[in-house]
Amino acid sequence: MDFQNLINLAYVIAATLFVFGIKMLGSADTARRGNLISGVGMLIAVVVTLLDQSILDFKWIVAGLILGSLIGGIAARVVKMTSMPELVALFNGFGGLASLLVAWTEFEKIKTYGWSAYSQLMGTPSFFSSFVIYLAMLIGGITFTGSLYAYGKLSGRVSGQAKVYAGQKMINALALIAILAIGVAFTWSGDLELASTLFLSGVGLALLFGIMGVMPIGGGDMPVIISLLNSFSGLAASAAGFVIGNNVLIVAGCLVGASGLILTAIMCKAMNRSLGNVLFSGFGATSQSSGDEDDREPKAISTQDAFYVLEAANSVVFIPGYGMAVAQAQHVVKELGELLEENGAEVNFAIHPVAGRMPGHMNVLLAEADVPYEQLVEMDNINPIMPTVDVAVVIGANDVVNPAAADDETSPIYGMPIIEAHKAKTVFILKRGQGKGFSGLVNKLFVMDNSRMIYGDAKSTISDLVNELKG
Ligand code: NDP
Repeated sequence: MDFQNLINLAYVIAATLFVFGIKMLGSADTARRGNLISGVGMLIAVVVTLLDQSILDFKWIVAGLILGSLIGGIAARVVKMTSMPELVALFNGFGGLASLLVAWTEFEKIKTYGWSAYSQLMGTPSFFSSFVIYLAMLIGGITFTGSLYAYGKLSGRVSGQAKVYAGQKMINALALIAILAIGVAFTWSGDLELASTLFLSGVGLALLFGIMGVMPIGGGDMPVIISLLNSFSGLAASAAGFVIGNNVLIVAGCLVGASGLILTAIMCKAMNRSLGNVLFSGFGATSQSSGDEDDREPKAISTQDAFYVLEAANSVVFIPGYGMAVAQAQHVVKELGELLEENGAEVNFAIHPVAGRMPGHMNVLLAEADVPYEQLVEMDNINPIMPTVDVAVVIGANDVVNPAAADDETSPIYGMPIIEAHKAKTVFILKRGQGKGFSGLVNKLFVMDNSRMIYGDAKSTISDLVNELKG
């Protein structure tokens, strides 16, 4: 077997490890091993690539390795768990930027050697090289600025609301047509000077389009755009793999692209919307619903009174949301659940697919606290039994339990499936004050007759309830 075949065999092994690793991420029991197996696959891919490319000078690679490890190590220590979703958005963006830079570097090589010498070097026709270079630059550029903007929205650095203006769809459509037309001209232009101008115009437009594309998306639709950008970062990497003729990058990029698209479809289903509707409708730009007009005051209850109700309950459903992540209340929630079970109640956790700030956020937190997987019940399964539940305890959730999504056609989140907490006999809502959810909407659940607010940080409220139950 010659050296090149050995390299390809190692790539096949790496790709197989990626696939098995991803498969194992599907279950909480095997996820850790899955992560490790994918990591080993990536190590093989990196080592083999370094051997394969006859690298003459390792200086820049080592410098990049040290700098990247330093930044990664510091981020892992400094970034709070609640900021993880923003960090993921940034990672997607830098993945896109890397693909853009790879494409740009290859184009610079073409400028140095000329089309035909480059084609001979790569063993591909020149129109193919220019096509994949433009594609990697385009998807990478859109992913970079789109993800930076999404990062700003998630972290509250810019408004999280959708931004729409007159003629926006037309301007976006024209920009897209211009990007594609420049791409066609670049692919077929033989003249290097013209190609250079076209490429730079393409870079500028791609960077601009990333922002223009994310602008009309906001509020509750952000999970869809985050998973779509995640998919784009994979597709950009795959295109970069074609640019430099690296099989394992093509495969790894396709895996990220495909899994991101599947996640996007799941998120769209969770919002009860089509992808086209999320991307182009500017839904949620009008920020208020008739929920504002309800002037009833929420009724508060003390933890001691809440304890009496919980002590008498036969069935309790916890509904966690972003506030549980902020409070890091998952461990005390687990303890409270165990105490209530010992007291004879049936305890379940209702999981909304977009609760928190990243897909699977609640599952991750509750798994970290070792809450049994069987107790996590998905929205479609918990809603039918909600009217029979004695107490629903909403822990820092807001948008995902907002009844306006079901009954207020003027609400920006109308049509989004929710966990029907309001149908339980009694609802306790744990939050610090009058803060709104990610969508910035008023929540009528808080003023309903069967609702009681328990104000305070979720972790300390639940710790108080635990102490009450322990006597
Ligand atoms: P929300 O963002 O709707 O509400 C969170 C609530 O938690 C707030 O009302 C806040 O009220 C309360 N809270 C914050 N800190 C604490 C604390 N320490 N203790 C107690 N309560 C606290 O959360 P949901 O999970 O209901 O909804 C998620 C939203 O985020 C959806 O709109 C979703 O579309 C969006 N989103 C989801 C993503 C995903 O992938 N899952 C990604 C991006 C956006 P107060 O300040 O009064 O305490």
